[in-house]
Amino acid sequence: MRINNDVVEAIGNTPLIKLKHASEATGCTILGKAEFMNPGQSVKDRAGKQMILEAEKRGDLKPGGLVVEGTAGNTGIGLAVVASARGYRTMIVIPETQSQEKKDMLRLCGAELVEVPALPFSNPNNYQHIAKRLADELRKSEPNGVLFADQWNNLDNPKAHYVSTGPEIWEQTGGKVDGFICSIGTGGTLAGTGAFLREKKKDIVIGVADPCGAAMYELFKNGVAKATPGGSITEGIGLGRVTPVIANARVDEAYLIPDEEAVPVIYDLLEHEGLCLGGSTGINVAGAVRLARKLGPGHTVVTILCDSGNRYQSKLFNPDFMRSKNLPVPQWLERRSTVKV
Ligand code: PMP
Repeated sequence: MRINNDVVEAIGNTPLIKLKHASEATGCTILGKAEFMNPGQSVKDRAGKQMILEAEKRGDLKPGGLVVEGTAGNTGIGLAVVASARGYRTMIVIPETQSQEKKDMLRLCGAELVEVPALPFSNPNNYQHIAKRLADELRKSEPNGVLFADQWNNLDNPKAHYVSTGPEIWEQTGGKVDGFICSIGTGGTLAGTGAFLREKKKDIVIGVADPCGAAMYELFKNGVAKATPGGSITEGIGLGRVTPVIANARVDEAYLIPDEEAVPVIYDLLEHEGLCLGGSTGINVAGAVRLARKLGPGHTVVTILCDSGNRYQSKLFNPDFMRSKNLPVPQWLERRSTVKV
């Protein structure tokens, strides 16, 4: 173990954890990359780090500069962590429907929050469009410059995973990896990690696990980005359109994972494996189980444990909330839960 000069250097190099139940159920080795162990507790620390460090290299950020982004929360936390450590400020535009825990964490990290109504991307007042307009406007008055991180279009986002997540998985498994699968928010994790692993192993199977209501399942299954019916309580995933980040991603398998399949996985990981994780991880691990079944016993499948379950105490781990969404609540959660909203 070496000494990190700052928190930015502590991002990445996360453990790979064998998921017991998923492995036993499939006869495969299913491994989860523990991204919740990053300093900002999610996979998006890597993108935050890469986008800021590359902007510095290009000369787009000066000391005291402002980083602006539209985010479901985790990218904002990653950006805020890196920005604090390197002397920048952050302004984060977030849909008001995102969990209170993520908003609280953003404020604690020093971000200025702009909460806006949750509107579809087609609406000009969708949070991503508001963030871009804000960045353009502030550029006129900010003396030290403004970086609009723009994670859906910024290729430094998938690059983060091409230079770190992919190589780490390759090294940790000693190249014994037959499949990689994850869900898509921007697609940075999928595109960057997938591209690196494919370069190393031509016949690796890359999969996408998509929540209901998103368009990636149809895109990679049938070639057209069309939203599937229904919705999901998961946060940070569920892309509805093709963006530059995923435009060139090569995907072999796509699975549509309903919340009814993903949520019990989250509870099982907490009850039996000591892993308290967020909803997108449930989609990922359920997808890994499907991919493992497709590959057959004896194979190794890697997926992403995206963020910490702490971030969703008031939702995923709140029996009243889950009942209001007609989702199953295990008895033990009723007994252990202290959250009343
Ligand atoms: N899970 C969670 C909880 C997230 O916040 C995100 C990013 N928004 C993802 C998964 C997906 O990451 P990516 O943007 O790399 O597709």
